[in-house]
Amino acid sequence: METLPCQGCRGLCCGPVPVTEQELKQIRKKIKSMPAKQRLELQHQDRFYGTCIFYDVNHDRCGIYSVRPRICRDFGYYKKLVCFRKPELATRDHWSNTDKPVAILSSDITWRDFQ
Ligand code: SF4
Ligand code: SF4
Repeated sequence: METLPCQGCRGLCCGPVPVTEQELKQIRKKIKSMPAKQRLELQHQDRFYGTCIFYDVNHDRCGIYSVRPRICRDFGYYKKLVCFRKPELATRDHWSNTDKPVAILSSDITWRDFQ
């Protein structure tokens, strides 16, 4: 499958995203399992206002990639979630979360919730 040209975007589309209870649980587990040094390094990076709290500025990638919310996985591939850098990949219909989101990551949920 053709993929998005994310390298070099530097988190351009990584802003506050909706998360479900299950996704939050997975994220908590992931953060807890990180070595303290890695977690602190991710936590204390300087990000632009509005950039996702888990965007890893130093490595230009998602800092919780394996447990990123569903909307992040699907972004760019659904008609409702178009990436302007490659709109032709947004071909799938009917994006919706199977579970109801319980919060918005980065505004309702911040690093303080993972202490
Ligand atoms: S989805 Fe699009 S805007 Fe977001 S990082 Fe990838 S190429 Fe860039
Ligand atoms: S969880 Fe990862 S992929 Fe999703 S918005 Fe945050 S940094 Fe980007």
